[in-house]
Amino acid sequence: MIIDIHTHTPRDREPVAPEDDVVNSMWRPDAAKSARPDWKSYMEAMAPVDKAVCFNMASDPRGTRDGDATLEPATEVNDTTAEFVRAHSDKVLGFLGVHPHDPNALEEIERATQDLGLVGIKLGPNYQNFDPLGPEAFKIYGRAQELKLPILFHQGTSPVRFADLDYAHPRHMDRVATAFPDLRVVMAHVGHPWQIDTIVVIRKHPNVYADISANFYRPWSYYNELRLATEWSVLHKLFLGSDFPVATPQETIDALWRVNDVIQGTNLPEVPLGELEKILHRNSLELLGIPH
Ligand SMILES: [Zn+2]
Repeated sequence: MIIDIHTHTPRDREPVAPEDDVVNSMWRPDAAKSARPDWKSYMEAMAPVDKAVCFNMASDPRGTRDGDATLEPATEVNDTTAEFVRAHSDKVLGFLGVHPHDPNALEEIERATQDLGLVGIKLGPNYQNFDPLGPEAFKIYGRAQELKLPILFHQGTSPVRFADLDYAHPRHMDRVATAFPDLRVVMAHVGHPWQIDTIVVIRKHPNVYADISANFYRPWSYYNELRLATEWSVLHKLFLGSDFPVATPQETIDALWRVNDVIQGTNLPEVPLGELEKILHRNSLELLGIPH
């Protein structure tokens, strides 16, 4: 079983005109990528995986900031994800988006799970501009823990200017996991470039994991991340994820076997390839308690 735990719901049912596609080198230093997949191109990209989890984030009900226009209100985000998931239910599962400062956030969680069938939550404290340790956020975590809904957090940096770096720093997840010990958490991107801060958190907390999405195209960081995970004995807490459309599952899988390329001709220690095979086949849905 190969599972992509981190993809973004395609918002366009039909292909968009090439001139409307956003190709942004901020996200991929090595390649220009389409940022507007449609339903069909999403499913084509998921051909190498057995299951994929998709989601988008909800906008801030207190108002948007410059450059924030890509986020939509929670109800729209969740309807879009649910519609896509329903049409591809043999392969795709969906997480809901919600904003902790939305007075209807708890009701939207009920609606998105019970009526729409979404099975987890995606939050991005930096993009959504909320304090991950604030009382509003803690209310969401508490409800998620009660309902056994895993939360996947964007963690680490972002090229988006307004996105507060500290809100997505992985060290904060230590306090979240201490306060909500039964909450299952995925720390996206191993919190790049603060991978070691992520590694010490997932090492401590049995229900906290990390996904390796959107990391391979910085090969020296990627090698170091997987060596740190080896030395701190947390390779078993890492999930496969692509961050599609930023990267595809196939690119992400191919890059696993190239991780030691950057140290060829040196005496630096290798990342054990057998352990990468386990990341590839790890059943992240089962570890997160998601029926599938
Ligand atoms: Zn993402």
